[in-house]
Amino acid sequence: MSIVYLNGQFVPQAEARVSVMDRGFLFADGAYELVPVYSRRPFRLAEHLRRLQHTLDALRIPNPRTDAEWTDLIHDLVARNAPDDQSIYLQVTRGADVRRDHAFPQVVQPTVFMLSSPLVTPGAEVRARGIAARTASDIRWLRCDLKTLALLANCLLKQEGLDAGCAETILLRDGFLSEGTASNIFVVRQGRLLTPPKSHLMLAGITYDVVLELAARHGMPHEVREIAERELRTADELWMTSSTREVLAITSLDGQPVGDGRPGPMAAQMYDWYQTFKNEVMRRGH
Ligand code: PMP
Repeated sequence: MSIVYLNGQFVPQAEARVSVMDRGFLFADGAYELVPVYSRRPFRLAEHLRRLQHTLDALRIPNPRTDAEWTDLIHDLVARNAPDDQSIYLQVTRGADVRRDHAFPQVVQPTVFMLSSPLVTPGAEVRARGIAARTASDIRWLRCDLKTLALLANCLLKQEGLDAGCAETILLRDGFLSEGTASNIFVVRQGRLLTPPKSHLMLAGITYDVVLELAARHGMPHEVREIAERELRTADELWMTSSTREVLAITSLDGQPVGDGRPGPMAAQMYDWYQTFKNEVMRRGH
């Protein structure tokens, strides 16, 4: 069974307990991050901690740990769990109040929780086939740049896709692409990689940044700009990116093939660069 971290203690997952008065439970009042760990080394940890700070600042929750403390805790949790490749989920809620009240409590101790799961990235077969996606209107709030616990809209939209045999749902707001329910989206048109700019309408993915850095480093033509629904629907290639899916081709959209219906050459190229980059980082140790 996996070992989790809760408020200063490492315990078996089944033994971890939080109060029913925790504002994470009552109001989804908290922030989270998901850090991929390869060969026991966290990937892009500084960037994940920076994004956590951005969310906590916006939620007005004091960060309960310094970056050095987070780093030690994550390494400790990784060491206590078996897999070499892990996904470390970390969550900070505003804490448990004495009564249920929308207003913030005067004094409260944030709840800190970390969970390790085996990191399972898409296998060769899924990558060779690509995945099916569908579109839906983005019904979420206007602070999608924050990684908060309030994921109900993402869950509903993702499940509607899964029920229709689609592994991801791509969100459109006012006729423009925002992102996937749990991923960022890249579009290839005429040899050019396109993706929407960071804004309050999407999460600034850590993988999104790596992909753009790799495109710049290797001279792949790319442009960060708004993408209209029509451009999404007539793309030569579509990719989704996230810490767990890495770079994954989308080969059908709303039942129509994307390009020729197979993962495209630019996706394969970026996937290779991404793997090489990961190995470089792991060798360097940060
Ligand atoms: N957008 C959303 C809504 C997500 O949940 C995720 C996954 N955390 C991403 C984008 C991709 O972010 P990252 O590359 O940091 O995993």
